[in-house]
Amino acid sequence: MSALDRIDFEALGRELIAFRRDFHKYAESAWTEYRTTARIISELEKLGLPVKFGPEIHTPEKMFGLPKPAVMEACYQRALSETDRPELVERMKGGFTGCITEIVGAKPGPTVGVRVDIDCNDLEETDKPEHVPVAEGFRSVHPGCMHGCGHDAHAAIGLGLAKVLCALREELCGKVILVFQPGEEGLRGAASLTARGHFSHCDYFFGGHVGLISGPVGQVAASGHDFLASTKFDVFIHGVPAHAGASPELGCNALAAAAAAVTNMLAISRTSQGASRINIGTLNAGTGRNVIPAEAEMRVETRGKTTAINEYMEAAAKRVCEAAAQMYGCTAETVYMGGAGNVVCDKPLVDRVIDVLNTVPGVTKVLPDVDFGGGEDVTTMMADVQAHGGMATELVFCMPLKAPHHNGCFDVDEKVIPLAARIFAALVLSVSSDPIQK
Ligand SMILES: [Zn+2]
Repeated sequence: MSALDRIDFEALGRELIAFRRDFHKYAESAWTEYRTTARIISELEKLGLPVKFGPEIHTPEKMFGLPKPAVMEACYQRALSETDRPELVERMKGGFTGCITEIVGAKPGPTVGVRVDIDCNDLEETDKPEHVPVAEGFRSVHPGCMHGCGHDAHAAIGLGLAKVLCALREELCGKVILVFQPGEEGLRGAASLTARGHFSHCDYFFGGHVGLISGPVGQVAASGHDFLASTKFDVFIHGVPAHAGASPELGCNALAAAAAAVTNMLAISRTSQGASRINIGTLNAGTGRNVIPAEAEMRVETRGKTTAINEYMEAAAKRVCEAAAQMYGCTAETVYMGGAGNVVCDKPLVDRVIDVLNTVPGVTKVLPDVDFGGGEDVTTMMADVQAHGGMATELVFCMPLKAPHHNGCFDVDEKVIPLAARIFAALVLSVSSDPIQK
């Protein structure tokens, strides 16, 4: 009999679903997860766990892609009005969201890291009556903010794991570092936490994502491959304004430079080394009909099957922007907004995950490895663990998808929540009590 059989996962599931619905209703996007984090801290404190949060866990120069100050302030004030723990929110002011807790077992053993992410998307949630959050009354009350990627479920899964491990401390060897990461969307949050060395001493490290692959709850992948490495950056083209009729020759046209940059970035020669992507998601320029546009701003992202391919795309894109700016007498400035590299999950750990999955009730099908096919900044933490000699993998907890991720109709099959908490707990107990021989 496994120690986990002593846990009432049905009752726990009901509790976790209530957490998920609460996080969903008060969805907060990257670097503004104030209320969400405060709620998580409150729950961890109820378990008697020590919680680190605020500036002490972050690296300010690596907090990439912070929203504009006015947006940050508005979200901060909103959180203060919605939380029952304003003193916690105050310590996070400035975007220092997310938290880390440590669960120490009764016996000595290795250090195991588990990461869940907690931010929502900048997305408007559907108001269709058949959408479960609408029907059940937990649709996001924050305009333009929606949990469209399941990170509300991830936060609940993290709390579930904390509860289970606290109940099983006698069986737990070593310690677990459980991180509730802010700002995954846009690959912005992991670097700030990782640079503080929170995960460097982890012998094992697990991440996980719900959905991604549509399938019944119970189908679980032990690892992913082809996390696309990605870089997000903003491009600012600075020109010179002038009267478009009287003296156009005195101006330097930033809009024209940006337009040339867009078409040429899309024409970057692809590499034979593997898949790559580039997208210019926004372009804003100019101030008025009769003024030579002096400023242009673009949001760009590159991706690659490997870190090297992404770096190739990124370098080419920046070169194009600079050359296009120069063509029109302008200058180009790029600002890094986020990114993550590619990693390969560790085979010995993946093999163990497969073995463990085969013993967990509720797991109906084990996929050894799936194509991740997108960016995930958990790779920043995984790479740090691997660089220090530890092993890491990212699981995928399938669920039936009514709509794709990052879509206003996306929804979570809530049965996945207690199952994922149980799986993480089983993995932690396995590697901590029976270390993997390298
Ligand atoms: Zn996600």
